[in-house]
Amino acid sequence: MADETPWWLQDDDDVADPITEAQAEELHADLVALRVALQAQLDAPSDRAETVDLDQPIGRLSRMDAMQQQKMAQAQRGRLKMRLSQTRVGIKAWDDGDYGDCRSCGESIGYSRLKAKPESPLCVTCASSSEKR
Ligand SMILES: [Zn+2]
Repeated sequence: MADETPWWLQDDDDVADPITEAQAEELHADLVALRVALQAQLDAPSDRAETVDLDQPIGRLSRMDAMQQQKMAQAQRGRLKMRLSQTRVGIKAWDDGDYGDCRSCGESIGYSRLKAKPESPLCVTCASSSEKR
């Protein structure tokens, strides 16, 4: 009647399997593609990122709207830059043969997480604990 699961049926979600060589190759291609895509987005001219022209005869509300939009565009740019730098670090780690290991605890990050976010430097456990701070 015990609800103990036999060890051979236990699903240990906390420890991800190290990625295979084929998976590493695939993720490297993802990283390179991601770097190109992020760089293209950062290089694309964005009219929203331009400074708000305070000389424009616009009302107080629309000026605030414009500044709000500018802030959001800057935040978005900041996130893109952050992802790009993480992607670069990931590619460097791949070249060094360290790719796929958590930067914080050294455990394997796991294929499914890397496939969703190839630039992620942390495993699920470390990422969720750092996000809680
Ligand atoms: Zn970790």
